[in-house]
Amino acid sequence: MGRILALDRNMINMIAAGEVIERPASVVKELMENSIDAGATRIAVVVEDGGRKLISITDNGRGMDGEDLANAFEAHTTSKIKTSSDLEAISTLGFRGEALASIASVAQVRTVSRTKDSPGANCIEIDCGSKGRVTPGSGDYGTTIQIRDIFYKLPARRKFLRTANTEMGHIREQFTRIALANDGLDLMLTHKGKELHRLGSGETHYQRIAELFPGLSLRGSDDLIEAESNEKGLHISALLGKPGISRPNSKFQYIFLNGRFIRDKSISHAIREAYRGLLEPNRFPVVFLFIRMPYEDYDVNVHPTKVEIRFYNANLVHSQVLGALREKLLRTDMQAEARLPDVEYADSHLRRSGAVRDQRISDAMAEFFKKQRPAQRQQQISFRSAPAPSPSGRARELPRESAVQYDTKFLQIHDSFIVAQTDDGFVIVDQHALHESIIYDSLCKRVRESKLQSQKLLIPESFELNASGFDVVKNNAELIEKLGIELVPFGPGTIAVQAFPTLLSDVKPADFVRDLLDLLDRSEASPDAERLLDDVLNMAACKAAIKAGQKLTDSEIEQLLADRHNAESASRCPHGRPTTIKFSVADLEKQFKRT
Ligand code: ADP
Ligand code: MG
Repeated sequence: MGRILALDRNMINMIAAGEVIERPASVVKELMENSIDAGATRIAVVVEDGGRKLISITDNGRGMDGEDLANAFEAHTTSKIKTSSDLEAISTLGFRGEALASIASVAQVRTVSRTKDSPGANCIEIDCGSKGRVTPGSGDYGTTIQIRDIFYKLPARRKFLRTANTEMGHIREQFTRIALANDGLDLMLTHKGKELHRLGSGETHYQRIAELFPGLSLRGSDDLIEAESNEKGLHISALLGKPGISRPNSKFQYIFLNGRFIRDKSISHAIREAYRGLLEPNRFPVVFLFIRMPYEDYDVNVHPTKVEIRFYNANLVHSQVLGALREKLLRTDMQAEARLPDVEYADSHLRRSGAVRDQRISDAMAEFFKKQRPAQRQQQISFRSAPAPSPSGRARELPRESAVQYDTKFLQIHDSFIVAQTDDGFVIVDQHALHESIIYDSLCKRVRESKLQSQKLLIPESFELNASGFDVVKNNAELIEKLGIELVPFGPGTIAVQAFPTLLSDVKPADFVRDLLDLLDRSEASPDAERLLDDVLNMAACKAAIKAGQKLTDSEIEQLLADRHNAESASRCPHGRPTTIKFSVADLEKQFKRT
């Protein structure tokens, strides 16, 4: 007798459930998606014990009649597709017809549903695949599905469930993704009787994000830049976090395609590229990206939970996303605004709390600090007032716009930062970062136009170089020439720098070339010439810039401030660190309780 047997229906469903229903959060995702597909405008999610005890989802969608209710929990039953051609343009979130069957094979399920034209509701109960009859029930238009004791007959899978808090974290994440993609819906999430979220359909995108992510500490819609483009069949809209709210990981990057949360390496890459130079390499931007495109231009049928999809023209998607985001980011003033701490005044605090105990503690603290504080000398800080720039100031590379008058008060502190007054407050400038960004801009401009101007060295600087070093020189001859560097062999195993770019006049030629060859050697494998050049210019700018700890003369500071004003993108250094932090008088007044 043959050993191969057909699995029974329930086994098939349980196996499918292994793929689709990983944990309670998967149930929440599948059921909310079903509600959306059923045209619901209001969905309430109620959870007990991280979803292990109960997940109940109520919607006001189209509902199911008795016959549909009996069929919905069978494997491969769906109202969303009929023929193979429907697979080519899927406009609903679901279509595989396996979620309800999977869920019902691993939990106790009770569903009550009512359509618009039915006189009453119908109800069905299923316990781990054993299905009861459809009976009359009572309920409003729409559907309520309750899932109890998930995996209770599958101890191996139940064991994998984590604490209620962890499972709830996953549920919140699924809820969040759906809430972001569908801002026209009224949504509610409750856990253990406590309301975690109540989102209204009238909210703006920004309001919804602020409500869903209190941890982002958004100060206002200014923290997010809106970008939009509509070209080549792709509608892109995005909210782009300014560098000031960047994160140490990519958790806050949400990509949606036609209302579906997706993960896509190529789009993530486009996002990273769009922020290049605006963020330090180990920081990730906060991005909410919404793409709309024709359903037939991609395939969702590649992953059981449909979180990965396949674009037929992935290059187009990549370049459109990169273009739209990059253009917007470069056009935006990214000057970091200082986040002043929320200082509470002792007296106002007391007035509000009124608690005697608090008062005693704070009195004791005040007393303590009075005793400990050494008699402070009033520090004399005098702001120097810069005269209008004189044409004889030490020449730096950027042209000075003589029309701009710098009646600026400034002060260099710790030989590293410059505090300068502005029209509506003051700025703190990181002298190295700012100068670096100015030089970088200037290098980029010149290299783009032709090559860097160079100067013959009076005495060529030579250094030892091994055979592979000579190879690097040979392989990058064009780039080295573009930089205005002239290298000539100088005896066996030695090379000499004969000419060097004037822009880098403060840099030691041999040291620079050695580091340059190192960099070129490391990037030999990388085919991206544009990027390599950029890395080289970054390095050059960093080396040529004023260092932290360097005392500057008044005229040097004036020049730097004037250059800052003229530079294109001086608000971020090429590594993505801010060069300038802005403080407004309004902020100060608020802090000092003057308003
Ligand atoms: P799919 O969503 O892939 O079609 P499901 O197993 O999730 O498969 O659902 C099966 C069918 O049950 C759906 O096609 C739909 O017709 C019906 N259905 C499920 N949930 C709801 C709901 N909340 N309201 C109305 N109909 C629903
Ligand atoms: Mg479904």
